[in-house]
Amino acid sequence: MPDYQTILDEIRDEVQPLLTRGAVANYIPRLADVPREKFGMAVVTLDGQLFQTGDATEGFSVQSISKVYTLTLALQSIGDRLWQRVGREPSGNAFNSLVQLELENGLPRNPFINAGALVVADVVLATRDDPRARLLDTIRRCSANPILHDDPQVALSEKAHGFRNAALANFIRSFGNLENAIDEVLDFYFYQCSLVMSCVDLARGFLFLANQGRCPWSGDTVLSPDQAKRINALMLTCGTYDAAGDFAYHVGIPGKSGVGGGIVGVIPNRLAVAAWSPGLNAKGNSLAGSEALERFTSKTGLSIF
Ligand code: GLN
Repeated sequence: MPDYQTILDEIRDEVQPLLTRGAVANYIPRLADVPREKFGMAVVTLDGQLFQTGDATEGFSVQSISKVYTLTLALQSIGDRLWQRVGREPSGNAFNSLVQLELENGLPRNPFINAGALVVADVVLATRDDPRARLLDTIRRCSANPILHDDPQVALSEKAHGFRNAALANFIRSFGNLENAIDEVLDFYFYQCSLVMSCVDLARGFLFLANQGRCPWSGDTVLSPDQAKRINALMLTCGTYDAAGDFAYHVGIPGKSGVGGGIVGVIPNRLAVAAWSPGLNAKGNSLAGSEALERFTSKTGLSIF
């Protein structure tokens, strides 16, 4: 087994110069206030060993990373019928873009751009009793963190500044691809974005995707092996927005990022790894986080290729 602890500590030192280069998301004050020099990283292996460095236990706003969990809930509920409502192709456009929706009759390109996540949120709302509790419970169980919570302040600000997401939801609704009230869909989406997790939570919380859909500690079957495989494939092709090709090239594993600066990767049958640094690159992915994951797969020699 690679010496994960030494590797993580090395990476933490190596990315220091990058920590002042990224731009912290500033569309809401709560995110803009997070210090840019933060960096954390955690690895959890299939047999439950945890390795961490830096600010790995500090919570941050997961934002788009939550889209993996809502997709999980939607697949649990309606399985492959989901793909009648959302596509599976990389978008090549910014995560909050509207342009392809018109050309593709309100069918979002994939579940990880905002348009797709809104449709997935709609499915979860339609098929789950108390979807917020269901989502929170799933994430808590997967992360083995019973006090994991949301940040209502973030959700409120997302709503106050959510003009583009509101535009997306209305536009999708005009094509008949949303069933629930637009405000309900948006509120649920803002709630999921506001969940607070640390690198340790994320590495633990994504391990089910490295473990054929089964959570190693709770024993829960979260997804079938087939569904876990497909979510990993979607993370590889669409998980880092219009930088997914670059991420696959440099890092070589399925990954999912959020504008809070978190980024989590899965190495099937082996481990999950999460990095956090709030400074983002032009595509909205953590600058130091992406670099850290690239260094991790290079130093360990682990990737899916
Ligand atoms: N709350 C953000 C938005 O909807 C989440 C996007 C992200 O993390 N990329 O714009």
